[in-house]
Amino acid sequence: MSMETLLEKSDRKPTYNQFASDNYAGICPEAMQAMQAANSGFVPSYGDDRWTERACAQLRQVFETDCQVFFVFNGTAANSLALASLCRSYHSVICHELAHVETDECGAPEFFSNGTKLLHVNGPGGKFDLGEVERAITRRSDIHYPRPKVLSLTQTTEVGTVYTPDEIRAASELARRYGMRVQMDGARFANAVVSLDVAPAEITWRAGVDVLCLGGAKNGMAVGEAVLFFDRELALEFDYRCKQAGQLASKMRFISAPWIGMLEGGAWLKNARHANSCAALLEQHLSGIAGISIMYPRQANSVFVEMPEAVAAALRAAGWNFYSFIGSGGARFMCSWQTTEADVIMLADAVRLHSKQMR
Ligand SMILES: *Cc1c(COP(=O)(O)O)cnc(C)c1O
Repeated sequence: MSMETLLEKSDRKPTYNQFASDNYAGICPEAMQAMQAANSGFVPSYGDDRWTERACAQLRQVFETDCQVFFVFNGTAANSLALASLCRSYHSVICHELAHVETDECGAPEFFSNGTKLLHVNGPGGKFDLGEVERAITRRSDIHYPRPKVLSLTQTTEVGTVYTPDEIRAASELARRYGMRVQMDGARFANAVVSLDVAPAEITWRAGVDVLCLGGAKNGMAVGEAVLFFDRELALEFDYRCKQAGQLASKMRFISAPWIGMLEGGAWLKNARHANSCAALLEQHLSGIAGISIMYPRQANSVFVEMPEAVAAALRAAGWNFYSFIGSGGARFMCSWQTTEADVIMLADAVRLHSKQMR
């Protein structure tokens, strides 16, 4: 098929109806341009290049600390390898019952750690309850039970809420009290930073987080997540772990250069701010509609909605895309850097129309 035919075919698909996930969006211009800029000449492979060096330096500047940085292809690898590096096989990781590491990584954390068990606890709004966490830690101390070693929290959570700096600090203090480490799944970390309007350091290492898996793809990159070790000793031999897991890119510059494009001009925060404000607009338009209710406090770039099944079916039939298997069964509308206000208004109008017809 010629390039023109390919483009023509892909152009025929409307893009306005995508609220399924922020990874339905394309590559943002800043990431694309940075990748393009890295595409000149011969450059050393496996991360031994100036783009990778500059991306690492930029991350250290943004996080205001001399952390160890690694780039991997996706979030599952970032989380799994980070957790594996903090645990031995007989340890356990405590996370929320909705945590991506528990529900959406196909057992990769257990696989890469050779058997470390995930113990899940609940808590309202996608955030674990610290009393529950402590009960999970202290429930048993005998040799027959996997020893809790890491507390894993997701920021932004799976239901679009955000842990406050105080909540993260309290969680880390609890973990420390029991000799545990803290890992953060930051697939939507940027959305939390702009939601809270804080410095990235305030909700990571200054609040006791040892390792952050920082999301790139959902923020506007093609592929790639960064793993940041704030405690450098924990990063020992992490490079071997990445290589063995098939997560060491040989043409690393194309994974690392987009980070420069995202960070240097602040596009990562601009994208997140845009996505969050689209979600806020959607929330505002949906909350006036009879029969529709917003399920969780809308704090980042997603809106979870309880609606009659017939309305959801009518929306799907009209071509709207959204998930309904995350959290407790409502519809999830996720905004991205690419969402437009017009998309949001059109979606809200469709919800209003179908809700009226059902009554
Ligand atoms: C998307 C996502 C990830 C990463 O998923 P991959 O598909 O492996 O890149 C990790 N954590 C959360 C909370 C996510 O939403």
